[in-house]
Parts: sequence; C-alpha cells; structure tokens
Amino acid sequence: MKTGTIVKVSGPLVVAEGMRDANMFDVVRVSDKHLIGEIIEMHGDKASIQVYEETSGLGPGEEVISTGMPMSVELGPGLVSTIYDGIQRPLEKLYEASGTNIQKGIEVKSLDREKKWKFEPKKINGDAVEAGDVIGIVQETAVVVCKIMVPYGLKGTIKEIYVGEFTVEETVCVVTDEKGKDVAVTMMQKWPVRRERPYKIKKTPDSLLVTGQRVVDTFFPITKGGVAAIPGPFGSGKTVTQHQLAKWADADIVVYIGCGERGNEMTDVLNEFPELKDPRTGESLMQRTVLIANTSDMPVAAREASIYTGITIAEFFRDMGYSVALMADSTSRWAEALREMSGRLEEMPGEEGYPAYLGSRLAQFYERAGRVVSLGSEERVGTLTAIGAVSPPGGDTSEPVSQATLRIVKVFWGLDASLAYKRHFPAINWLSSYSLYQDRVDEWADINVHPDFSEHRTEAMLLLQTEAELQEIVQLVGVDSLSHSDRLILETTRSIREDFLHQNSFHEVDTYTSLHKQYRMLKLILTFYHEAQTAIKAGVHIQKITKMDVIERIGRAKYVEELNVDKSYDEIESNIIKEITDLISKGADEL
Ligand code: ADP
Repeated sequence: MKTGTIVKVSGPLVVAEGMRDANMFDVVRVSDKHLIGEIIEMHGDKASIQVYEETSGLGPGEEVISTGMPMSVELGPGLVSTIYDGIQRPLEKLYEASGTNIQKGIEVKSLDREKKWKFEPKKINGDAVEAGDVIGIVQETAVVVCKIMVPYGLKGTIKEIYVGEFTVEETVCVVTDEKGKDVAVTMMQKWPVRRERPYKIKKTPDSLLVTGQRVVDTFFPITKGGVAAIPGPFGSGKTVTQHQLAKWADADIVVYIGCGERGNEMTDVLNEFPELKDPRTGESLMQRTVLIANTSDMPVAAREASIYTGITIAEFFRDMGYSVALMADSTSRWAEALREMSGRLEEMPGEEGYPAYLGSRLAQFYERAGRVVSLGSEERVGTLTAIGAVSPPGGDTSEPVSQATLRIVKVFWGLDASLAYKRHFPAINWLSSYSLYQDRVDEWADINVHPDFSEHRTEAMLLLQTEAELQEIVQLVGVDSLSHSDRLILETTRSIREDFLHQNSFHEVDTYTSLHKQYRMLKLILTFYHEAQTAIKAGVHIQKITKMDVIERIGRAKYVEELNVDKSYDEIESNIIKEITDLISKGADEL
C-alpha cells in the first residue's frame, strides 16, 4: 500500500506528498474518512488529487492511500435500469446505506454482488476463443440481453463452461490461455474509464438513427455512431429534446448522463425517467436505460468523472453489437467542473478561464463515439451515438464550450429562444442548424424510405431559405409588393414550418413520426405547392389559393395515425388536385 500525506486542501482538490510510487489516474482514499479521489497530476512525489466527496474538515497531515488501480467501472449484468452517481455508485444503494445525506467515504459496489443471473452458455468445451467472443448470454431485463464476452487480453481454449445461475463474481467459464494457464472468467469485467475500450476497426457511420422527430430525421439527420450537439439557452427545449431522443431513437440501449445545474433539474430526470414508457415495448424506458445522475449533493469533481463513466458503459454495450445512444445534459456543466479544477491546480487559464485543453478533452470524449467492428472472431458491428447538450450562458454560442464543441460534432441542432418564445417546438432553427451526415443519409433514405426522399427534402429546405430572403423584402415594402408566385412560396413555407417542422412532444400521435409518414407529409405539402404553381401560371389569384378548403386538412394531416396515413394522404392529395383544377377551370382572375 502506498501512503502519502496531505499538504494542501483547496475545495475538491487535495495535494499530497510522498506519493512517488503512485500513478496518474490512480484511485486514492483520502484521510481516515476514506474519501474517494483520483490523481489528476503528478509532480515529483507530489500528487494532485481530485476528490469526489465533500472535503470540508480535511487538513494537512492526514493520510492518503493509493489503491494502485486506475478509476474504473464495473461492466456486466445489472447495469441496465440502474441509476448511478458520477463515479458509478448506485444511488439506491447509497441512500439505503446512509439515508438522504450520503455518508462520506461510503463503499458500495457498482454491480450487485448477491444477485444471481441465469447464464446461458453459447460455447462448448474445446472451443477456441479470443477477447470479445461471446461465451454466453444473460437476459438482463425484459428487453436487454447482456452478452458475456471474453475479457481483453485473453485468448485460448475453453476448458470448462457452466450453465446455471451465478453472481457476477462467480466463475462461469475456464479458459486455458496460450501459455497453458487456466484463467477463470466471470460475468463482470472492469475497465479504466479514461481509456477508450478497444475494437477492431472504426467504420464510417452510414445509416440513419431514426428518432421520429421530423426536423431531425428529415432535415438534420444523425447517423448511428454519429456525434451531435444541442446548444440552446434556458427554456429552449434541450431537456425535452433529449428526452424525446432517449424515448424514440431506435437505439437498443440509452445511456443518459445528467449534469444538472440546479438540484431540481436532476430530480426531474430522476422522477421522470422511470415513469417514461418505452413505446416499442410498453415497458418502462429504464428497462433499456442506464442513468448517471450528478445529484446536487455530489461535489463538482464527480461531474468531471461522470461523462467518462457514462461513455465507458456505453462502449461496453456497443461492443456487444448494439446500437447505443448516449446523451449528456449538459456538457457545459462538465466543462465548468473542468474549469474549476484547472483553476485550483493554478494552471494558466485560457479563454474565459477554461483550461487550454478544453477542446482536446471534449474531442477525446466525442471521439469515443462511432460505428465499430468489435473484437472477437465473429463479425459484430456496434454503434455509439453521442449527443451533448450545451447550455451557453445567455444562449450566446460564441462562448468557448459551444465553439470547441462545434469544431468536433457533425450535427448541430441550434435551439432558438425566439422560436421557443413563439412556442414553435422543437425550437430547432432550420437556418442555422446543419448535419454533415446529410449526403450519406440521403443515399440511405432514398434506398430505404423512398427514391424521392432527398429530392423533397432539398426542395423544402430551398423554399425555407427563400422564405428568409422574401421576409426581408416583406419587412421593407410589405407583402403586396411580392409576385403571386413568391406569395405562394410564403404560403408553402408557412405550411412546412407549422405543419411539418412544428411537432408536439406531448401529443399522442404527433410525438413520433415514422420515416414513411415524414416522407408522405412533405410530399403532401410539395404537391400543394406544385399544383398551386400551375394555377398561378394559369392566372388564378393567390388569395383564392390560400383560401382553399384542403389547406386545413394538410394542417391536420400530422395527427393521422400511422396505419391510416397512406389512405388519408392519398385522399388529401386528390382533393388538392381537384380544388386546383376547379380554380383553373373558372378561368384567369383580373390581376
Ligand atoms: P431547457 O432544458 O432548454 O431549459 P426544456 O426542455 O425544459 O428547456 O423546455 C422548456 C419547455 O418548453 C418545456 O417545459 C415545454 O413546455 C416546452 N417544450 C420544449 N420542447 C417541446 C416540444 N418538442 N413540444 C412541446 N413543448 C415543448
């Protein structure tokens, strides 16, 4: 055991000397209260330690013991549906052990040691195995199967494999490695959080992560394995958007990291998440979710650790070949923790006091997302999609965290306070947002949804951009100065905005729209546009077009249930054509 002595305490930062034998990122126990900490800097025999618990009352002269182990997470059955704190302590167990005020230095295991899981072997004696190979499975929750994989670094032949019920620490398989040594394999693995889990190769993400949110899927899509940021001021809908994604995205596993600014925001997540129903299974959403919550009584340093804890858990499920969606709400709070620690380390501050390595730390985090071929002899492809909310003070995205994030992520869903104020939700600004996956998704959607999918999207986006230009003219000289065909553009974009982009998360039908329905909705609006163009050319007055009965039906089309979409939309389309033909047959108006 390596022991040192505290020489300085500064909030969550403790400096200890006599630590020459310890390593960077080792977990340490501080004082006789056994507070949990991690070495984040070494100078000679002095270690700077970030302490994950309240340090009040601590003083120089007290003892620091290094465990000689890096900060790690426990991976295995029991992760799903658990709520953890930033250093993977299950909150329920913490509260059980110490009541609502979490006791200091308390030790609770991340994975339950008592619970027995039914292990179903997938290999037999004599099978050759290597790291990543699935030796068996456990039905972890109603909807998640945990695959038990050969741990990193082990290769050999199965000597024995068992069937039955085991705890995570009991041996389920014995592998004779290449040196002839027998190695016991358990269902639990450990992995250091600050190190990316290994994989064979990383591939370009190419398929759409369907979210059922129209502005996202049709206009600013994210791929499975992609990275996105949602910046937005307070009240603009970051949390609702993240919840919608957690609920509806076609991911097998959701890892939600909550770094709340205020305690009550986190309480909301803790109360709401277990209540949310998974629309695909009818079970609680928690049945496929791992929640990491930095409660307000956790010191700032735990926030810094939480995103690593979260992403390592996410990588573990990715390795099983699953599609995993990770959400961090909000990375700004994480960056503030980084800034505070950096300040206490007396590092040279960069912009707005953030450390100069803010950008590289953010990049390291997002780079752990992707589509990968997992280790192992069977081909298994898993994806890890990372979505980070950013909450810039005052909503101004020119600040360092937003800027550093934007340099890394490929999708930007810019939430807009003025849209939220007008109650246009989701308040994603269609002019400032972008997705660099667009080309790939276009190809994918044209094959998998409809050959015209991307053509329609491009046309609609062009109309929205034209609208912005026309609006400027309208503001200067009024709408009457526009030509009838320009006014038709305004009528069409009003419909794209109000009928298509606006989507109510709290409406039973509107909350989710399949890709097919998204395609049909846009086609409906564009059919109106194209037919009306013909009418305008034939001399029909724009006012007659904007008064057409069918416009109201287009507006209500989003509430048509998925099953009735084709029939109902076909009908509306023929109504459009009929009404337009009637208008044209009445002859040209006096313009
Ligand atoms: P933030 O996390 O950015 O502070 P919230 O996600 O809490 O903001 O959203 C604020 C409010 O805006 C919500 O309580 C809700 O009333 C409304 N809202 C946000 N998004 C939507 C949506 N997609 N549909 C309906 N209402 C929404």
